[in-house]
Amino acid sequence: LSPSLLLLIVGLAILASLGFDIWLDRRQIHWLEQHRTAVPPAFSGRVTLEEHHRAVDYALERLRLSVFDSALGSALSALLLIGGLFAGLTDLAIAIAGQGYVAGLLLTGAVMLVYAVPEVPVAAWRTFRIEQKYGFNRTTPALFVADMLKGAALAVVIGAPFILAIDWIVRHAGQYWWLAGWGFYVAFSLLMLLIVPRFVMPLFNKFEPIDDQALRARIETLLARCGFHASGLFKMDGSKRSSHGNAFFTGFGPTKRIVLFDTILSSLTPSEIEAVLAHELGHFKLRHIVKRMLTGFAVSLVAFAVIGYLVGAGWFAAGFGVAPDTAQNMPLVSLILCMLVLPSFTGWAKGISNWRSRLHEWEADAYAAQQTNGADLASALLKLHKDNASPGTTDPIYSTFRHSHPPTAERIARLQPAS
Ligand SMILES: [Zn+2]
Repeated sequence: LSPSLLLLIVGLAILASLGFDIWLDRRQIHWLEQHRTAVPPAFSGRVTLEEHHRAVDYALERLRLSVFDSALGSALSALLLIGGLFAGLTDLAIAIAGQGYVAGLLLTGAVMLVYAVPEVPVAAWRTFRIEQKYGFNRTTPALFVADMLKGAALAVVIGAPFILAIDWIVRHAGQYWWLAGWGFYVAFSLLMLLIVPRFVMPLFNKFEPIDDQALRARIETLLARCGFHASGLFKMDGSKRSSHGNAFFTGFGPTKRIVLFDTILSSLTPSEIEAVLAHELGHFKLRHIVKRMLTGFAVSLVAFAVIGYLVGAGWFAAGFGVAPDTAQNMPLVSLILCMLVLPSFTGWAKGISNWRSRLHEWEADAYAAQQTNGADLASALLKLHKDNASPGTTDPIYSTFRHSHPPTAERIARLQPAS
């Protein structure tokens, strides 16, 4: 592939991917503007017109920010790949540290900063303008900065050993390094599943055992009935950052934990909490988590094979202005280039994973309705829907690609066919 043809293809891919993202967001914006005047039929009598207006306005502001954010990300990719910034940063890293492991770390860090620094004002706008305006934000500026610094420190502590290992593998493991690289990636991901809930999440939030004895007893009965063993039942201070509510499971095997946000504990009744947990248990019992993980590993094997081919191809790094001896002596440079190029070709695949995720949500709802009272899950979903100010109506094509959960109205209708 000649350099100019490669740049043309990558440039078109960046534009096509951006065009697709903006097209979807614009469709949803248009749809919500059209449907702002009246409460969607499925929610009439459950949501007031005022609540509906607030939900639509909140969604519109986030969508407009998302359009800007997509454009920003694409502009940065274009600047790095087509504008020559990546080749410039590579030369700089080599000038500072030679062609060894330190240069690889410097280059990786520089590329991450190129994306992360412009994201700071976007995240600040989202938190302190949009979330604040609609009454969801509880993050203080000090907490925002502390979170950012902790995130950056973690990226160094966890990311640097990972990059060093991959750099070593790509230098020493021969032609099939990508297979070894994939194996390492899988092992590293599994290790993270053990480490993150125990050691990383407590850096950001406080986890306390749930002290409400009646609720504990209720949940333990549910766990026993479903044949589920958890190593703990925790309350997380989610209200520290936001009033949005959530519940989730972390870890795997014997380290599984159940975590409920304090925001959920205060807004849902005990029987609603039990129904929400039964839904989450359904994801475990029906092996959704394992299936998702195995799919992820299979997809990453394909990605590693493609990367293995591109790193070995002389034309690839050269097309982006990387000198031949750099590509030869520092294969990590080509590998980082792959990580920058590939997302522009794979954005549409999110539609497939969201479609699968929605199937899993239906299955987990059905499981919850078997194990607990479906009406409790329905009323919990309606409360969460209102608490999160979701608009309750959506453009079907936008929803197909972007929503990991089915529309709340449809879920409630399936759980409560009578009402
Ligand atoms: Zn779910």
